[in-house]
Amino acid sequence: MATKQFKAESKRLLDLMINSIYTNKEIFLRELISNASDAIDKSYYRSLVDENVSFNKEDFYIRISADKEKRTLTITDTGIGMTKDELENNLGTIAKSGSLAFKNENEAKDGVDIIGQFGVGFYSSFMVSDLVTVKSKSINSEESYKWESKGVEGYEIELTEKAEVGTEITLKIKENTEDENYDEFLDEYKIKALIKKYSDFIKYPIKMLVKKSKLKEGSDKEYEDYFEDEVLNSMVPIWRKNKNELKQEDYDQFYMDKHFGFEKPLKTIHSSVEGLTSYTTLLFVPARAPYDFYTKEFQKGLELYSNGVLIMEKCADLLPDYFSFAQGLVDSADLSLNISRELLQHDRQLKFIAKKIKDKIKSELLLMLKNDREKYEQFFESFGKQLKYGVYSDYGANKEVLQDLLIFYSSTEKKLVSLDEYVTRMKEEQKYIYYAAGESIEKIDKLPQTEMVKDKGFEILYFTDDVDEFAIKMIMKYKEKEFKSVSSKDLGFEADEKESKKETEENKELFDFMKEALGDKVKEVKASSRLKTHPVCLSNDGELSIEMEKVLSMMPDNNNVKADKILEVNTNHEMFTAIKEAFANDKDKLKMYANLLYNQALLIEGLPVEDPVQFANDVCKLIK
Ligand code: ADP
Ligand code: MG
Repeated sequence: MATKQFKAESKRLLDLMINSIYTNKEIFLRELISNASDAIDKSYYRSLVDENVSFNKEDFYIRISADKEKRTLTITDTGIGMTKDELENNLGTIAKSGSLAFKNENEAKDGVDIIGQFGVGFYSSFMVSDLVTVKSKSINSEESYKWESKGVEGYEIELTEKAEVGTEITLKIKENTEDENYDEFLDEYKIKALIKKYSDFIKYPIKMLVKKSKLKEGSDKEYEDYFEDEVLNSMVPIWRKNKNELKQEDYDQFYMDKHFGFEKPLKTIHSSVEGLTSYTTLLFVPARAPYDFYTKEFQKGLELYSNGVLIMEKCADLLPDYFSFAQGLVDSADLSLNISRELLQHDRQLKFIAKKIKDKIKSELLLMLKNDREKYEQFFESFGKQLKYGVYSDYGANKEVLQDLLIFYSSTEKKLVSLDEYVTRMKEEQKYIYYAAGESIEKIDKLPQTEMVKDKGFEILYFTDDVDEFAIKMIMKYKEKEFKSVSSKDLGFEADEKESKKETEENKELFDFMKEALGDKVKEVKASSRLKTHPVCLSNDGELSIEMEKVLSMMPDNNNVKADKILEVNTNHEMFTAIKEAFANDKDKLKMYANLLYNQALLIEGLPVEDPVQFANDVCKLIK
């Protein structure tokens, strides 16, 4: 019979599994048990919604058996089984192709350890086995098939005999090596311990036939051996346990077993709500964004259970986009099992639960912000951007929910601060919440436009994410205080602005001439009220700032939108004397000066000089 090849990516992954020096090989068992449990979930679900399918509760179980002589470990389930096609498709290709990409990305950093944490499911069997045999009979088929593989070479598939619907996976356990003791995976006590450790919450019984001994009949000292089925797991799903019976380690273990994340969660939220609609949620905030979080591929959602029965693996309607980082599950007895996906979207109870979950996540995050700032900063580092997109999208519809969760770097505090903290600290004479946008904290710190605001002792929020200014434009005001960019036309310093207005009027012809020289590159040239030591800067008139222009220009379908720029000149700077002189005696020179100053201002903004050759020539002319 022909050996079939694995898909290329699966092959690489298999190779990795087989040759892995990963120490935590034992996780293969939880992977196989979790697959078995998933398969039983599917049957169970079918029996509830399809009247042609009926089961007894006793029909659902997982069985483990070990044979030390043959070196085999067998995991049998009474789940939904696989057809021939499903065997090929599910076991011949890797389901979550992203995990490999992830592994490659992180290999350099974390070594091979990532394998076990990420969980690559079925293939992990090859860490302990050199021959894997899967016999399966699908609920939808009369025939049963055997799939067999020794690893990377490929697999074989053929008809077989199997009476019951379900799957039986047999691992031929590897021989011991100098460094590895594989025998232990055939040992009853080890197997029991592994199941307690990793699979205790599995809701179907995991049975094993164990040897016991009892007094021989009629004797009071002679014993005899007999075999009896023992259930190895407690079967209570963790979210149904009492909160105070659980330790954080239990949650962490569950989180990783379920592959919600590949390292311990940053925050666990376990709550039960009783009322018209009762439900339990177990939610997690991951410690880091998954590799695909900010891509289109990422799918948000929570597992949805109806009274302990899984009805949907990723119910997107339970989470708003801005909280899409949340992982976990919801279990409610009030949801109908029979509900279709389409109907579920409009389900009143589901909407109610979704709203409650949103509120819960928000309040937990606010608590974290207040009481555990370090943790919150870690959270914000990973998911802050998503919150900001949330503020910006839907025309700001969710800004009320999210604005209190935002933090920005502060010029005076030298750390991340919330809007509330900013406003509480504002000086009496301060009208606005000031912000400055730029590429990095270091660059913003040096912006000439921040000079006067800093000089007055006002705090400035630094916006380093592209989305920041767009989000703030949506918020507009926080606690009655308007946001103001340090580059916007007026800064609310009346005395200084009066002064610069006077200067501008006094030098009207000069500024008009410079404006003329620059053409429509700028809307106006004027005396600045925001500079102290720097010679020039750009400010902007209108809603669109220069930073926003930069961001928009990088978008694929930008309409070449431009901010209305104003060239501001520091009339107290020495160079202004030279400008005045040129205006009186050498107009061509002033033209050149105007261009030079404008280009300088562009450079300070991090914008490209429009004609670098001209700029260089002009500088040389000056040097000569
Ligand atoms: P995952 O469980 O994340 O989908 P796995 O590699 O563990 O990835 O399993 C791949 C697929 O193989 C599963 O999605 C399922 O369709 C199928 N499968 C694995 N084990 C079983 C089983 N015991 N019964 C039925 N289907 C199974
Ligand atoms: Mg799996």
